[in-house]
Amino acid sequence: MSEMPRPQDASYKMLINGKFVDASNGATRKSYCPANGEFLASFPDATKEDVDAAVKAAWAAFDSWKKVSVTEKQAILTKIADVIDANKETLAMIESLDNGKPIRETMTVDIPLSSDHFRYFAGVIRGEEGQASIIDDTAQGLFGNNLSIILREPIGVVGQIIPWNFPFAMAAWKIAPVLAAGDCTVIKPSSTTSLSLLHLAKLIAPLLPPGVVNVITGRGSTTGQFMLDHPDFRKLAFTGSTEVGYSVADAAAKKLIPSTLELGGKSANIFFPDCNWAKAIEGVHLGILFNQGQVCCAGSRVFVHEDIYDKFVAELVASFKKVNVNVPWENTTQMGSQVDEGQLQKILSYVEIGKQEGAKVAVGGARATGNGLEKGAFMQPTLLVDVNNKMRVAQEEIFGPVAVVIKFKTEEEVIALANDSEYGLGGAVWTQDINRAFRVARGIETGRVWVNQYNDLPAHTPFGGYKKSGIGRETHKVILDHYTQMKNIFINFEEKAIGLY
Ligand code: NAD
Repeated sequence: MSEMPRPQDASYKMLINGKFVDASNGATRKSYCPANGEFLASFPDATKEDVDAAVKAAWAAFDSWKKVSVTEKQAILTKIADVIDANKETLAMIESLDNGKPIRETMTVDIPLSSDHFRYFAGVIRGEEGQASIIDDTAQGLFGNNLSIILREPIGVVGQIIPWNFPFAMAAWKIAPVLAAGDCTVIKPSSTTSLSLLHLAKLIAPLLPPGVVNVITGRGSTTGQFMLDHPDFRKLAFTGSTEVGYSVADAAAKKLIPSTLELGGKSANIFFPDCNWAKAIEGVHLGILFNQGQVCCAGSRVFVHEDIYDKFVAELVASFKKVNVNVPWENTTQMGSQVDEGQLQKILSYVEIGKQEGAKVAVGGARATGNGLEKGAFMQPTLLVDVNNKMRVAQEEIFGPVAVVIKFKTEEEVIALANDSEYGLGGAVWTQDINRAFRVARGIETGRVWVNQYNDLPAHTPFGGYKKSGIGRETHKVILDHYTQMKNIFINFEEKAIGLY
C-alpha cells in the first residue's frame, strides 16, 4: 500500500452567518479514511442552538438575497464554479480520502460534475421567464379584460440533508439551485463524510453574503433530527435512505411545508441478445462497480436474456476478477474502499443472505485483502447468480459492488420483473433495436432509464424516483419549481364598475 497523501486541514469549523464556528458546546467528531483507518480531520458536532443560529442567520439574509438580480446571481454561481475548478485536485483528494472512492472518479466525475452544476444554474436562470395571458372570459362572464401574470418567487429558508455516497456532488445538487432560486439554506452533510462540503464552505464564503449558505455538521440522529424538528424551515430537501426519507416527509407534513426526497433504489440493468457486446459488459461494471456500488441508481439487478446468458455471465466473471481494487489515492485504482467497515459488513451480510436463499456466488463475495487492503473496508466485485427476483438480495438495496444476475426469456417478462420492486429510480436497457429500446424504456416504472449507457448524470437531465425512490426531481431547471412558489398577479383593465351592488 502506498503512503496516503495528507489532507490540508486537520480540523474544520461550520459556516454560520458567514463566520467559521465550533459547536456551541465545543463538541467535535472525527473523520477517518476508510481505506486505512487513519485520522483525517475533526469537525463540529452541532447542537440545537447551532441549528437555530443557522436558521436565524438564513432568515436574516433572505430579505436581501431574494432581491438579488439574476445577473448578479449568475456572476456568483459562475465564481463558485470557477473556485471549484481551481481547487479541483484538493477537493478530489479530500473526497477520495474521506469517502474511499477512487481519485480517477473524483477527478473526472464528482468535482467537475459539481462545478458544472453551478455553471448550468448560472446559465439557466437567465432564460427563466414568467408567463402572461389575457383572460377575457371568466366563468361568470363578469370580469372581462384581464391580464394574468405568473411569476415564481423564492420560497424562503430551506433545510437540506445529504448522504455520504456523493458528499460533494450532492451538496452541489442542493446549493446551486437554492442560490439560483433566491432561497437561503442550512445544509448538513453526513457525519461520515463532512470534509469536502466544509472545505467548499471555506472556498465560497467570501463569494456570498453572510447567512445565505450555512453549513452545519453532526450526526443524523441528533443534528439532523434538530433540523427536522426546527419550526422555521419553509421547505426540506433530503437525499438519503428511504428509511430516513419517511421521517423527513413526516416532519414536513407536521409543519405543512413541501419536501423533495431522493431515496434508495434497486434498478434493473437489462441486456438483450443484440446488445453492443463490449459496451454492454462495461455497462454492468458502470452500473454496479462505479463508486463501489454505493449509488442510489446502481444497476444492481442485472437481467440477461437466456440466449446470451451463459457467455455473458462467463465474460462478466472474468472481467470482474480483473478489476483493480486498491487505495483511493492511486490513479490506477478502479474500485476503492466502501465508506466504512459498517457498510462493508452490511454488504457481506447480504452475500450470506443470498447464499441462504439459494443464490450462488459467481465471482467475489468476500472482503478484498492483500497488499495492505485488510486495513480498510475493501470489497471484491461480486455477482450472485441463480437468483430469482423475489429473493431479498433482489429486492433490498445492498449498496455495494454486488449485483444479482437474473435470466429472462421475453420482453414482457423482463418489464414485469423490473417493475416488481418497491423502488423506481434508475435502470437501463441494452439493445440495438430502437423500437424495443423505446418500448422497454417506457414500460419500466422509474424516473430515469438509460439506453445503451449507465450512470451518466448531467446537470440538464431531470433525476428522481418513482414509487419508494422519492418525490420530486433534482438537476435540470425543473428543480427551480421545487425551490420557488407561484405568484399570480391578476389585473383588470375595465374602466367601469360591474354594477352588482
Ligand atoms: P441516510 O439516510 O442514513 O443518511 C442521509 C442523511 O440523513 C445524512 O446526512 C444523515 O446524517 C441524515 N440523517 C440520518 N438520520 C437522520 C434523522 N433521524 N433525522 C435527520 N437526518 C438524519 O443515508 P446514507 O446512508 O447517508 O446514504 C445512502 C442512501 O442514500 C442510500 O439509500 C441511497 O440510495 C440514497 N441516495 C439517494 C440518492 C438519490 O438521488 N435518489 C442519491 C444518493 C444517495
